[in-house]
Amino acid sequence: MLSVVIPAGSMCCNGVFYKMCLICDRIDLIKKGCNPYFVRELATGYVVIGDNQHFYGYTLFLYKRHGDKTELFHLAPDERAKFMEEMSLVAEAVSGAFGAEKMNYELLGMGDAHLHWHLFPRRSGDIEHYGNHGKGPVWWYPMDKMYSDDNRPDEVQLAEMKRKLLAELDRLLPPPPSNESEVRQ
Ligand SMILES: [Zn+2]
Repeated sequence: MLSVVIPAGSMCCNGVFYKMCLICDRIDLIKKGCNPYFVRELATGYVVIGDNQHFYGYTLFLYKRHGDKTELFHLAPDERAKFMEEMSLVAEAVSGAFGAEKMNYELLGMGDAHLHWHLFPRRSGDIEHYGNHGKGPVWWYPMDKMYSDDNRPDEVQLAEMKRKLLAELDRLLPPPPSNESEVRQ
């Protein structure tokens, strides 16, 4: 089965080349309507399904802006509180949609400094024998296994994941504006 892949530094469907930040690239694709992982826009960010799904339901919440806002403490208090509140709601939706035993939350920024949350549903045995007798953070699982092409969702799997997550987000959050299919530019 073919998996859904967006090559880094690639072109959108309209042939436009993108910037150096992978997160900004992905947001540009959302705005142009050609990011297959996009689930829903919130006030402070975008919800997207992760490219690799060893941790089934892995989802990211991408902050809308980049610029010089690369730390939580760079955000104004109201904006930071809203970003945190929305991240928590997205995590709740991910947990409900994909049946997590525990959620893991990561905000690292060592690949791209752009603020973005990694939200991992965790389940017993999901890092096999790695870590502390099979217990520990996701990054104790080998990178080559975590990012293997074998665990990329195909189009049918991705559509099903997006449907499940959107249903939970719609249950937890106010409905989007009437032009819900339009992403604000
Ligand atoms: Zn960026």
